[in-house]
Amino acid sequence: MPDKSFLAWPFFDETHRRLKARLDPWVAAEIASREHDEQDVDALCRDFVRQLGAGGWLRYAVPASHGGMSPTLDVRSLCLLRETLAYRTGLADFAFAMEGLGSASITLFGSEALKARYLPRVAAGKQIAAFALSEPEGGSDVASLQCAARREGDHYVIDGRKTWISNGGIADHYVVFVRTGEAPGAKGLSALVVDADNPGLRIAERIRVIAPHPLATLSFEGCRVPATHLLGKAGEGFKIAMATLDIFRATVGAAALGFARRALDEALAYAAHRSAFGKPIAEHQLIQAKLADMALKIDAAALLVYRAAWTKDALGGRVSRESSMAKLYATESAQEVIDEAVQIFGGIGVLSGAVVERLYREIRALRIYEGTSEIQRLVIAAQTRAAADAEREVPPLAREEREPAA
Ligand SMILES: Cc1cc2nc3c(=O)[nH]c(=O)nc-3n(C[C@H](O)[C@H](O)[C@H](O)COP(=O)(O)OP(=O)(O)OC[C@H]3O[C@@H](n4cnc5c(N)ncnc54)[C@H](O)[C@@H]3O)c2cc1C
Repeated sequence: MPDKSFLAWPFFDETHRRLKARLDPWVAAEIASREHDEQDVDALCRDFVRQLGAGGWLRYAVPASHGGMSPTLDVRSLCLLRETLAYRTGLADFAFAMEGLGSASITLFGSEALKARYLPRVAAGKQIAAFALSEPEGGSDVASLQCAARREGDHYVIDGRKTWISNGGIADHYVVFVRTGEAPGAKGLSALVVDADNPGLRIAERIRVIAPHPLATLSFEGCRVPATHLLGKAGEGFKIAMATLDIFRATVGAAALGFARRALDEALAYAAHRSAFGKPIAEHQLIQAKLADMALKIDAAALLVYRAAWTKDALGGRVSRESSMAKLYATESAQEVIDEAVQIFGGIGVLSGAVVERLYREIRALRIYEGTSEIQRLVIAAQTRAAADAEREVPPLAREEREPAA
């Protein structure tokens, strides 16, 4: 069983401890039996979304005004859910996470009509959501995205491509970031909600990756979307994308934490009974050093993840520094923890179907999506320098000459 001592930390209140106490047995009963099932990821994902909706867990992904649990998204609850689901299977975590990521921009910036149309269905597990930002020419440099939308009367007409879109092929709607051209660069982007069956939107290709989940390239050709599907104002797309990622980057860290905790538990159990040189390998000090480093990295990651979540929940506003630190450290350290777990298992660690082998594949993409580790470092550096500039009262002109970070 994973360590639960962190629930006593002051970042949490009773509602979080109750959530975890209800969630653990539900996951064990509903999800655990499917953790090794990787055959038909589309069908499995649809099932997980339906199950998560029926279990009431997707209510944590939308606000109370539209069928959710709390007045605003509670990031600590999102993190607890992701950590717990990821401990069992990356695909169940993925199904939950995408419902949040693909609807949060609507929660944060949607009109009342858009919220009423999409959010209750997300909460019920009846609407599969997706977030379409990245393009074939690049994902990191969001300000330079090319997929364009021009205004024609009371519609926007989208032409271009999006790629690496999770839930691509099974989603019911996509939140699509487009260039509307109000200004150059980051200030000329907008966000539109596009239904999957909107004429002009086509799945150009499905993409297979090392830890399979539904993923696709989208093609937009003369795709006419009602202007009422605009989120926020025209030109606010960059702000909308970053505000959404601000919440979800910390939750990516939480998923990594779930993978890392599972790897440590698997390694502890194996090291206790596998013998070498006449004693269990856990009795060898080099193995103990590995276990110690794994436990230390997990606690450090948990502190950063739940610090970021608490900061957003308790203090509000943007938490770019905290969520980038949480995502960067938790994903990088989880990769190290899982790698050590594979090492402790010896040859069995790389056997197809072994839990640690699956974790080894599942963790990798988390260091890339929702901003690569390099991009997180740029964000942290920009935030740290801005804080230092403010302290030293550096004139704004000198600050503006620097490159913007995502
Ligand atoms: C499994 C998976 C699921 C995904 N799901 C989604 C999704 O649902 N929606 C979506 O919109 N996108 C999604 N993505 C895309 C993901 O967000 C991008 O892959 C990511 O942002 C990186 O973009 P890129 O692949 O184009 O790499 P590039 O931007 O081309 O970067 C290539 C390399 O250069 C580095 N680099 C770039 N700029 C700098 C710099 N200034 N300094 C230093 N290094 C730099 C990057 O860190 C990276 O190592 C997904 C990706 C994967 C792998």
